[in-house]
This record gives sequence, C-alpha cells and structure tokens, in this order.
Amino acid sequence: MRSITTFHLQYAHRFYQFQGEAQYLHGHTGTLTIEVEDSINEGVNMVYPCNEIKKVAWDVLRNFDHALILRKDDPLLPAILEVYDRQGIRKGHRLNTMKGEAFRTDLAVAYPDCRLVVTKDTMTVEGMIMIVHELLKDKLPIAKLTFVSGDNTASECFKPEADIERCPLCGISLDKEGKCPKCGWQKGKEQE
Ligand SMILES: [Zn+2]
Ligand SMILES: [Zn+2]
Repeated sequence: MRSITTFHLQYAHRFYQFQGEAQYLHGHTGTLTIEVEDSINEGVNMVYPCNEIKKVAWDVLRNFDHALILRKDDPLLPAILEVYDRQGIRKGHRLNTMKGEAFRTDLAVAYPDCRLVVTKDTMTVEGMIMIVHELLKDKLPIAKLTFVSGDNTASECFKPEADIERCPLCGISLDKEGKCPKCGWQKGKEQE
C-alpha cells in the first residue's frame, strides 16, 4: 500500500537557451507529491506517517523553496552572485533561517546560505523529479513522484530502493542503532 504526501515549493528559474518565454527569469509555485510504498506497519496500521514523509523530505527540499534554481552554465549565475556579494547576502543573512540541509549530488548542488540551487540540466518538471529521487531514494521507499509547476506536470514510478525498518509504535524510520528517534523504542530489546 502507499502513503501519499503533497507539498509546495516556491522558486524562480529559467530555461537558459530555450527558444521561448521560459528563457526569461520567472517564478512558480511547484507542487510535489511523494508516494511511499511498503507493507502496512502492523503496530500503527500505516505504511509511513505522512507528516514524517514531509519532515524527512522537507529537510532537503527546503533548499528549493524561496530559492533561485539555475543551470550551472547559465551566465546569470555569476551575475547574481556578484550582486549578492556586493549586498553582503551571499554567505547568508541573520534572518535567512528557514534553510535546508546543504546537499551535492551529480544532478544538483544546494547553497542554502544564499538560497540557490545549481543544476546540471535545465530544471524542468522532469528534471526536478530526477533530482528529488536522487536526494530521497535512500531515505524513503519512493514508489512515485509527481511534480506540477505552472502548466507542466511530470510523473515517474520507481521501484522503492530504501529498505526501512519502522518503529512499531509510531511508524517512523529507526536510526542506525535500531532505535526510534521519536519514542525511543529499541529493536531487539524486550519491550514492556
Ligand atoms: Zn518555469
Ligand atoms: Zn517510535
């Protein structure tokens, strides 16, 4: 069965060298739907709690919210960084606190201090699905991702890769030591 969570990301981007209006910098509210598939976790009668999917995903995906997403060869990139430098906000600002965890994959690099994500390929809805899958495939058993942005939608099904052991009391992933980070349940210990 699947647990399904949806959330929204607000971002600016452009399709560098695309022959059309999308080559101009513009913004979207993108809607990402994550479908997680596993057996029903008997103790809690859930696949995975949706608020926990959101928490795990949001830790990294927050990098795309109120952010600028540019392809690595886009000449806007050095131009914008130069302005951020001059303004003193490239390395952060004391009120820029809603930051994601910095990440670097083959497809994208996040710079949370200046709310920038630099991508290998143009950030289309299809590109976003590949980036998100790369970031979350080891953290959640992802069966399907859908990303809607403006008039564009892309969707892809995956074979869940993450092998996750869940707490029988609250349904979230156990840590490396087999302990639940939420309630402290410990795998292998006699439970009261
Ligand atoms: Zn766009
Ligand atoms: Zn627990």
